[in-house]
Amino acid sequence: MKAAPFSYVRATSRDDAIKRLIEAGPDARVIAGGQSLLASLAFRLSEPPVLIDIGRIDDLRGIVIANDTLTLGALTRHRDLATSPLVATHAPLLRKAAHHIAHPAIRNRGTIGGSLAYADPAAELPACLIALEATIIVAGVSGERRIPADKFFTGLFETALAPGELIVAVDVPSASATRRAATIYEIARRSGDYAMAGVALTAQVDAGRMSLPRVVFFGLGDTAMLAAKTAAALTGASDANAAVAVVAQDLSPPADQHGNAETKLQLARVVLKRAVADLLAGGRA
Ligand code: FAD
Repeated sequence: MKAAPFSYVRATSRDDAIKRLIEAGPDARVIAGGQSLLASLAFRLSEPPVLIDIGRIDDLRGIVIANDTLTLGALTRHRDLATSPLVATHAPLLRKAAHHIAHPAIRNRGTIGGSLAYADPAAELPACLIALEATIIVAGVSGERRIPADKFFTGLFETALAPGELIVAVDVPSASATRRAATIYEIARRSGDYAMAGVALTAQVDAGRMSLPRVVFFGLGDTAMLAAKTAAALTGASDANAAVAVVAQDLSPPADQHGNAETKLQLARVVLKRAVADLLAGGRA
C-alpha cells in the first residue's frame, strides 16, 4: 500500500516545530527518523494531513554530561547510543540496549525521541529509561514539562504527551553517581526483531547482594512495566529464585502472536533469571 496524501513542512527550530504543530491541529505528526511512522503511513494505520520534519533542528541534538546527569537530545539516534563514549561511561545500559534494536540501517535513522513517543510495548528504550529513573523533557507553547519515565507511558502506544508537545530531551542520572549496575536481557525470534519478552534491571551490588533494584519488563503488557514485588524479592538477594517465584504477582501478560499467557509468563521468568545472573556477574554472564 501507499501512504494517503499529506503535506510536508521542515521545521527550522524547536519553537517553529511547536508553532507548526499547534497550527496544523491534533492529527498532524512530527517525523524524526521515520522508522516507525513511515511504516504506519504505508499501511494506512495513520493518515496525518501534515508531517512536520524535526530532523534538522540542531537544539534537539547532542549528548552532554553535567551535574551527574547525562542529557540526550531527542534526535539522538540508536546508533549514537551504541557508539558514544559518554553513553558508554554514564549510561552503559542504553549502549547495551541499542544493540538489540532492529538492524543497523534502522539504528542509523531511528531516534530516542521517536522511540519514546511511539511507545511500542516491546521497545527496549522505554524499559531502560524507567529502570534508570530517567526524566523525559517535553516542550509546548506554555514551556517545558519534566515527566519521570515511569509516568510517561500511559497505555498501548499512548504517552503523557499533550497535543502540540514535542519530546526535546531525556535526562539520565549518571551510573557513577547512582552506583547502580544495569543490564538488559530479551528473547526474540530472530536477532533484530522486537522482543517476545524482555527485562531491564538496575541495582547496586555489594558483596554479591542486590539493593535498590528496579525491574522493568517489556513485551509483556500494554507498556513497559515496573515490577515492584519482583524488585522487593530481589532486595538483599544473591540470586533470582525468590523473585522468579513472584513474577506472576506483577505481570498478567495477554496472549499474543508469540504465545499464550502462561508461555509469556514463563518467558518473563527466564529473562529475569538470566538478567540477574548477568548483573551479578558484572555483565559477563
Ligand atoms: P518516527 O518514525 O519518525 O516517529 C515515530 C512516532 O513518534 C511518530 O508518531 C512521531 O510523530 C513521533 N515522534 C518522533 N519524534 C518525536 C518527538 N521528538 N516528539 C514527539 N513525538 C515524536 N524499535 C525497538 O525499540 N526495538 C526493536 O527491536 C525494533 N525493531 C524494529 C524493526 C523494524 C523492521 C522497524 C522498521 C522498526 C523497529 N523498531 C524497533 C522501531 C525503531 O526503533 C524506530 O526508530 C523508533 O521506534 C522510532 O524512532 P523514529 O525516530 O524513527 O520515529
